[in-house]
Amino acid sequence: MTAHARLSPSACDRWSDCTASVAEIEKLRAEGRIPERDSSQFAAEGTVAHEVREMCLQFGLEPYHFVGETISADGFTFVVDDDMSRHLQTGIDWVREHTSSPSVEIKVDLSPWLPGQFGTCDTGFIAGDLCTISDLKFGAGEPVDAVGNKQLRLYALGYWHFKGRPAVKSVLMNIDQPRAGGMKFWEISLEELIEFGEKMKLVYADIAAGRVKFAPGTKACRWCPVKDQPEGCAARNKWLLDMIVDEFDDLEGDEPKLLDASTITPERRWHIVKHAAEIRAWLAKLHEDSLQAALDGNPDPGSKAVEGDLGNRYFVDTKKAEALLVEALGDEAYKPREIIGITDIEKKVKPGRRKQGHPETWEELLKLVDRPPGKPKLVPADHAKPALTPLADAFDDLD
Ligand code: SF4
Repeated sequence: MTAHARLSPSACDRWSDCTASVAEIEKLRAEGRIPERDSSQFAAEGTVAHEVREMCLQFGLEPYHFVGETISADGFTFVVDDDMSRHLQTGIDWVREHTSSPSVEIKVDLSPWLPGQFGTCDTGFIAGDLCTISDLKFGAGEPVDAVGNKQLRLYALGYWHFKGRPAVKSVLMNIDQPRAGGMKFWEISLEELIEFGEKMKLVYADIAAGRVKFAPGTKACRWCPVKDQPEGCAARNKWLLDMIVDEFDDLEGDEPKLLDASTITPERRWHIVKHAAEIRAWLAKLHEDSLQAALDGNPDPGSKAVEGDLGNRYFVDTKKAEALLVEALGDEAYKPREIIGITDIEKKVKPGRRKQGHPETWEELLKLVDRPPGKPKLVPADHAKPALTPLADAFDDLD
């Protein structure tokens, strides 16, 4: 078995951990249960943003030159607007601060590590003993970390190889994600990058030889199409179910008994909390599938579908309702007026390269902007932010 064209850098989090997913996805594709290529409006928007960025870096243009232009991708059409232009500018300016001749949209060959595989590196350049790659992520939904990013490391390997393996000391990887976290960086030594490449060689050898295993995990399963099948992915189902079921004394009967929370170890509690979002999403999908089965006339034993509660009331003729209300209540018929949100204000008031805006108002408004402190949140112990100190500890040194 070969692993030709199956191990894309963007899916490295999946196939490098869950090696069995590669053949599983191919099987589902062959059965027509997974499309050859996913296209969505969001992906197409990202493609358009990449095209604008590429032309700017390639031909010395600015994103605002494209405002008002219509560009199509994957069957979707977009008009480049001020927002896209503004979002692309920061990353383009950053690249230009560091090089005047970047490599742009380079197809990099990953064969020395993953035979037959390749990827497209958005931007790369070598300056002194530093090799830099920059990857645009135009999505706004999920912030992507640069630290530990396997996709970037594969691009970096490919770009370093493409440039003839220069004797650089370090590799700087940048994610330019203007709508979710901005510019993010991770620098590692060339030795560390090469070490990662060696690990990828071993992963490739295992996949090619069929020495594979299912290894569910947050990152591995995040974009895996196997879990989206009607029956889900058996390995992932078991992984999630084990997390929940172990917390019950007795699952039989109408009311399963939950273990006393104090008997759950702190390690196990964190393990469950860390995966709470996946557990919730998985339960929601089970609920949806169970409801659909009942609606299809094949309810899960012990269940049935009934009509839900009525939705919210609304006026079938809003104009007529408004006239009646104003006649009866005058100004009280309306909600109090409210100013638009800060994001909308920024769009309408902040001056731009091709937008006059209201510079003085914007200056004055900025003096009035504040943010409340964030609420404490739980993150993995290796998260970049320092841990909050318990209040009692903060007073320890006062003696
Ligand atoms: S859903 Fe997760 S465990 Fe299942 S095949 Fe995909 S990556 Fe592997």
